[in-house]
Amino acid sequence: MENNRPLQAEEMLEKIFDFMNQLVDEKDFSATIMLLTEMGRTLVNSERASVWYWDRNKKQYWTMAALGSERIVVPEGSGIVGASIANKETIVINEPYKDVRFNPQVDKETGFVTKSILCMPIENARGQVIGAYQAINKLEEDGESVFGVQDVKYLTMAAVFCGKTLESHLLYTESQEDALTGLKNRRGFSEYFSDYVIPKLDEKTASLIMCDIDFFKKVNDTYGHNAGDAVLVHVAGILKDSVKDGGIVVRWGGEEFILMLLGCTESEAAACAEKIRTRVEASVCSFEGTDIKVTMSFGVKEFIKDMPLIQNIEGADARLYHAKTSGRNRVVTGEIV
Ligand code: GH3
Ligand code: MG
Ligand code: MG
Repeated sequence: MENNRPLQAEEMLEKIFDFMNQLVDEKDFSATIMLLTEMGRTLVNSERASVWYWDRNKKQYWTMAALGSERIVVPEGSGIVGASIANKETIVINEPYKDVRFNPQVDKETGFVTKSILCMPIENARGQVIGAYQAINKLEEDGESVFGVQDVKYLTMAAVFCGKTLESHLLYTESQEDALTGLKNRRGFSEYFSDYVIPKLDEKTASLIMCDIDFFKKVNDTYGHNAGDAVLVHVAGILKDSVKDGGIVVRWGGEEFILMLLGCTESEAAACAEKIRTRVEASVCSFEGTDIKVTMSFGVKEFIKDMPLIQNIEGADARLYHAKTSGRNRVVTGEIV
């Protein structure tokens, strides 16, 4: 166990500056959250600390960083974190076993002894709760374990920083993704291309597959726009599943997608496209009791690294256009004659 002596004011400042310097240099999101977690833990001198993210879609809380324990996922509303998030309040519990809000089950299973808890909500810039910061077991020289008003103040500093970091990460992720399918959008593709593809192009071949759902307007017209959305999600799932590692799937526009495959020649990419084509053709999208079937057309082209991305895309698009005009539900590759 660490030194239980409380930090003197000067030591405290020294620690804060030390953390700030590390934070300035740290560009990785997870590492930043880890640093902020450790900063909060140091400032309040607790045995454990964790930052929890509230995933509203999945109705779960999960630890972004849990110092001293494994990553944990719990259902929305559970435990002290749940109470803190739901009521948007800071909770201090210094006698957990006498407190009805505390569930001793986890301690029973793990053998850990919870002596004190300090938990506060983490908010975004609009004051909405996006997570919680929890410190467990205040370490004190005399063996006591009691969080006080001062600790709440100190932890607030770390929690505010966590809020800003988490929010900017969430906004960044959102700006890169299509909300309906979860695929990368054009902006996300552009960043992925600069960050991951360009550095590899000298040693690796790459290929583009451009594909588009056939007669998709008819799906909307026949079954309604929500059914159309369900088909988009269904198709996106197949595409994602077909390109696991070494590639990316992008929602380029409406019902049009781009797959970029790293380390793939044109003929390998064409084989991949053909697999996807048959898979889509054989699949069924069930929407509110109706089974909807669609097909897709594909244009495949090996990436020419001396040509700008957009021109490469135009090359694949020309082949996709050919696939459309020559009957749809097919893969077109090679020179168009
Ligand atoms: P083709 O085989 O030539 O590709 O015909 P198509 O009907 O698929 O193509 P068209 O470009 O005529 O129609 C595309 C339709 O996609 C029109 C548009 O309303 C619909 N669409 C675009 N984005 C979305 C979306 O997010 N959700 C839904 N439901 N429909 C969308
Ligand atoms: Mg279409
Ligand atoms: Mg289209």
